Amino acid sequence: MNRTAVIGGGIAGLTAAWELARSGHQVELYEASGRLGGAIAPVSLAQVQVDAGAEAFATRTPAVRDFLRDLGLDQQVVSPNPLGAWLQLPDQAAPMPSTGVLGVPGDPGAEDVMAILGAEQAARATQDLEAPMTWSQEQRPALGDVVADRMGPAVVERLVAPITSGVHSADPYDLAISSAHPELYRTMIAEGSLARAVTALRAAAPAGSAVQSLHGGMNTLISTLEAQLRELGTTIHLNTEVHDVGALQADAVILATEGRQVNRLIGQPHEPSQPHQPAARHGMSRNSGVALVTLLVHAPALDGWPRGTGMLVAPTADHIQAKAMTHISAKWEWVARALEDQLGPSHHLLRLSFGRVTDTDGSLGFASSDTALLSAAMTDLPALTGLTVTGEQLLDHTVVRWQTGLPGGSTQQRSDAQRIRERLSARHSAGGPQIAVAGAWFSGTGLAQVIPDARRTAQQILSR
Ligand SMILES: Cc1cc2nc3c(=O)[nH]c(=O)nc-3n(C[C@H](O)[C@H](O)[C@H](O)COP(=O)(O)OP(=O)(O)OC[C@H]3O[C@@H](n4cnc5c(N)ncnc54)[C@H](O)[C@@H]3O)c2cc1C
Repeated sequence: MNRTAVIGGGIAGLTAAWELARSGHQVELYEASGRLGGAIAPVSLAQVQVDAGAEAFATRTPAVRDFLRDLGLDQQVVSPNPLGAWLQLPDQAAPMPSTGVLGVPGDPGAEDVMAILGAEQAARATQDLEAPMTWSQEQRPALGDVVADRMGPAVVERLVAPITSGVHSADPYDLAISSAHPELYRTMIAEGSLARAVTALRAAAPAGSAVQSLHGGMNTLISTLEAQLRELGTTIHLNTEVHDVGALQADAVILATEGRQVNRLIGQPHEPSQPHQPAARHGMSRNSGVALVTLLVHAPALDGWPRGTGMLVAPTADHIQAKAMTHISAKWEWVARALEDQLGPSHHLLRLSFGRVTDTDGSLGFASSDTALLSAAMTDLPALTGLTVTGEQLLDHTVVRWQTGLPGGSTQQRSDAQRIRERLSARHSAGGPQIAVAGAWFSGTGLAQVIPDARRTAQQILSR
């Protein structure tokens, strides 16, 4: 029987392990921490369990849905409240335009886009429809550079940055377009226009909401995978950080950790030598992680979901410290029901995230105390909802910090990832060990990229 060691028990390692185990491989999975799931984890407030990290998956391809079906979880898939989210800008709060991808409008002249950009900048954005295409397939540009060139910097600042900052924890001028959305750049070149590419991608995407989740939260995917892996005979070693791949008794190894760990594990300590720094034009410090504050409040004023499913905050809206707010109980009906069953009506769960890639030292974020984060969340909440929420209405809260799972997806990191994969493949072809890599650092952030990439990685091992 083939023996494969999988290092890292996040969703990438678990997915690859499951793919191999169900095809008859004897799999040993090693996880450094005391639990599986990595950036997918549960947290409980007043006995209602919700997601502490990733809470949904993008539906732009059927990849995650297929995986959930293969796991028997199809019946658990839920769609969010179609109300959609809002944008908080320095001068206004407005619903997010309905025709966009990553904030890039498919119809730059639409009323909801005009409401955010103003007539002059909306006119600049529509130039994309006529301007000759000067970008080429060989380039590996950042999302912000492409959008600023085609539609103007106001589109980056007011529509794209709130999303890349709030969702990807990345500066748009440092986020590889291929990492943010693998199809967008190729489609733009084929269509000769960014707006037409957005429209084409939206038309090609499955009907329905742009994201989905599972009843009970994405964390139920981890408990399901763990149970199935154990049934398939996989040995799971928790609290076991792997330092030496050579010491493992295996025919093949999958490293499902981030890039610097991989370099250490394969004996390439110098490359990539330094964490990539965000674009110099911002002159800011590197993101060190995010802190999420989840609040349980009893607030009838929130029953009308004043900001839809939540709010993405433009980095320029500096009267607000949070970079995003999810109104969890407005977004997911199962959460609202669980709260009502446990506590009665008018209870709400809200999650505010802090820590931008562009933060300067001393900004509120990953390194701040729980007290400082809670206080900022309570200060931001009225500004974010347009309503008064007082300290007496706060019933419970948690603070969770994340340093992994959001690798940034810079253009530099993308080429480092490619180089590591090529080197490992060349080594194996030359008679070296079979070592493959998976995970967000290599595939791009988000379950829609991590899961199919991990499955492909496992398939490559199976086919050799
Ligand atoms: C707060 C937050 C919210 C997010 N929200 C979403 C969302 O809503 N939708 C979405 O699609 N994506 C979201 N993401 C991104 C998504 O969660 C990640 O892209 C994905 O979960 C990464 O999975 P991974 O397996 O690559 O890495 P990780 O989850 O980081 O797992 C890596 C694992 O490897 C282990 N490990 C590392 N080194 C070793 C070693 N030497 N030996 C053994 N084990 C080791 C770590 O302990 C960890 O458990 C979010 C991320 C965060 C942090």
